[in-house]
Amino acid sequence: MAATTVTRFAPSPTGRLHLGHAHSALLGWQAARQAGGRFLLRIEDIDPLRCRPAFTDAILEDLAWLGLDWDGEPRIQSRHLPEYRAALERLEGMGLLYPCFCTRAEIAREAAAIGHAPHGPDGMLYPGTCRHRPPAGRATRIAAGEPYALRLDMTAALARLPVPLDFEEEGRGRLSCDPARFGDVVLARKDTPASYHLCVTHDDALQGVTLVIRAEDLLPATDLHRLLQALLGWPAPRYRHHPLLLGADGKRLSKRDKAPTLAALREAGHSPAVVRAMALGAIAGPATGAVRSAASGL
Ligand code: GLU
Repeated sequence: MAATTVTRFAPSPTGRLHLGHAHSALLGWQAARQAGGRFLLRIEDIDPLRCRPAFTDAILEDLAWLGLDWDGEPRIQSRHLPEYRAALERLEGMGLLYPCFCTRAEIAREAAAIGHAPHGPDGMLYPGTCRHRPPAGRATRIAAGEPYALRLDMTAALARLPVPLDFEEEGRGRLSCDPARFGDVVLARKDTPASYHLCVTHDDALQGVTLVIRAEDLLPATDLHRLLQALLGWPAPRYRHHPLLLGADGKRLSKRDKAPTLAALREAGHSPAVVRAMALGAIAGPATGAVRSAASGL
């Protein structure tokens, strides 16, 4: 018998939801409801500098106004930090993590000194400065209270994999992964005891998510997520990365560019049904003259 479809919407409470978020949420909700499955809501709020509880409340309110319901209580990531710590400890136990004391400025200087600064999906690749520090030196600096991040030793991680990784992308078949392009990625930041990449893969596994529906700007991150799943023995969900919703200017909708929020559309007098249609690209909204996503097909 086919497994129950479990999808999720996983916003970060760094601002109000806009039509792009509603697009992802609706696709996930519809996929779960049409399959008689479960739709989960997860609040990805591990970054204390960018996330605000007031935005979490607003997200719940906006989704309910839009007519979306979710199964069970929303998972609030900041309440589960020990679980992410335990996952990090497993990677540490495999010898795959090392502490990195470098500041951004030091990393940029080091990259300049070696004459090139290759970039990956998360920005500049780490030149490896802290990878070879002797254990005693590391311990002294940690004991002195110096802040450090935890980085994945990518070469060592890849060496543990018996076969190259791939994943199922709906409509595109199996796509192969190249996690090496992330280099020695940060899995626990100096200011946050875990990273987005670690938490998202941990939670998708824990919550039994079978289909991840999210925007295509996260497609490159999936290569790293598959690596973490393989290292930690977590199952791989299927993925559907939908095209980004574009504004009338052809640019992606984003909080930073002041895309109209669901709250603003609601205040302007639009009904939930109309905003749902805008979000699915069925009708053009004030900022979606050029919706690129015919993808919903629903
Ligand atoms: N929290 C992420 C964001 O708001 C989305 C994570 C995901 O869907 O995998 O961009």
